[in-house]
Amino acid sequence: MAEAQNHASPADPVPNARLEEAAARLRRLVAEVLSGLTRKIDEDGHYPENFLRAYGRDYGFGHAVDPGYGGQPGGLVGVITGMEACSEECVSTGFLVWCQTSCAWYLQKSGNAALKRSLLPAICSGEQLAGTGLSNLLKARSQIEPLRLRATQAPGGYRLLGTLPWISNLAPGAVFAVGAATNDGTLLALARVGAPGLALTRAGPFCGLDGTSTMSCRFDNVFVGRGDIIADEAEFDSFFARMRAGLILAQMGMALGLTQGALTLIEEARSLARPTDTFVQHQPDGLRERLRVARADTLTAAQALDVGAPPPFTEILAIRARGAVLALDSAQGALLHCGARGYLERHPAQRRLREAYFIAIVTPALKHLCRDLARDAGARDATPAV
Ligand SMILES: Cc1cc2nc3c(=O)[nH]c(=O)nc-3n(C[C@H](O)[C@H](O)[C@H](O)COP(=O)(O)OP(=O)(O)OC[C@H]3O[C@@H](n4cnc5c(N)ncnc54)[C@H](O)[C@@H]3O)c2cc1C
Repeated sequence: MAEAQNHASPADPVPNARLEEAAARLRRLVAEVLSGLTRKIDEDGHYPENFLRAYGRDYGFGHAVDPGYGGQPGGLVGVITGMEACSEECVSTGFLVWCQTSCAWYLQKSGNAALKRSLLPAICSGEQLAGTGLSNLLKARSQIEPLRLRATQAPGGYRLLGTLPWISNLAPGAVFAVGAATNDGTLLALARVGAPGLALTRAGPFCGLDGTSTMSCRFDNVFVGRGDIIADEAEFDSFFARMRAGLILAQMGMALGLTQGALTLIEEARSLARPTDTFVQHQPDGLRERLRVARADTLTAAQALDVGAPPPFTEILAIRARGAVLALDSAQGALLHCGARGYLERHPAQRRLREAYFIAIVTPALKHLCRDLARDAGARDATPAV
């Protein structure tokens, strides 16, 4: 699997003006299209496929992908900026952006040049929908649970056996990445919706994020050819080390966007004429400052990853953990400021709270992050960095 090296790197200096222009276009799309869909997504489990296609056309899912494979300039900063713009309105959609961009990220980091050539341009443009089934793998790498998929060698590739209970963005024709245990280690493979032996059942219904087309995926000896292997056993450890920080950091797009959305609700609802609002635990000034710091930390780490100078991995875990806590605090602040009005079934404040809990439970969950940070601190005899 020799990777072509003749493309401009996504780490090349970002023409900020171009990214700003694209982000402004995206914000218009969110205001004009997504805002009209949010309620349907949240209440009816509507999967916003047309919006995702438009996102791909107007903004693109390939900011962290080489231009030669259909990427756009902007790096991880561009990925996070787009996810943040969607999540400010609707975290369900922001999460779908993360699913699509994560699959692009794995391929970008893969040495399988033929697979990259054949799939990445269509994933970057949104013509090809893509997901990521790596929660189990991330938990397995943290020794939380065993790998639930097993890969057995077969002529020309592998056969996959096992079940992954939740994988999102799985529309007909979608592709998605999964980790699997082999006799010698771990590999990352690309699975294709519709493959013989792959049974998808709609997961949920969930109390939020139900518009994410999330499926339980049962693999009954599903064949995956060598051409669809993203990283084989020999490459896996170095591949995982290259991609894990960006994968986890990118989830901050959801936390930053949700916090901004919650702050808007607080600003709309808050009245100093009411004698009680200043006694709500999470006040807008404090949340705004925490958001500013979280965004600065996230974008600094993203730029460092983009230029190949990654910060310590525990720093990424700590940023992501603080992002989950900030999302929970800001959503709670929004609901408590809005009061009974925010408790109405159709008020966005109660949706924000359900979305914030998702940010804290999606892998790596807040409890998972805190455990990893505590283990690292224990190894260094220090206090966890959250
Ligand atoms: C809406 C939604 C979308 C998701 N999308 C994705 C995705 O795209 N890709 C991805 O890889 N992961 C996805 N997940 C999974 C998510 O990232 C977490 O891994 C998952 O929520 C479990 O984490 P946990 O911390 O609760 O697990 P833990 O607290 O460690 O344990 C939960 C335990 O429940 C067990 N369990 C298994 N099946 C079920 C079930 N059907 N109901 C209840 N418990 C079960 C698990 O084996 C696990 O051991 C999604 C989850 C949700 C709720």
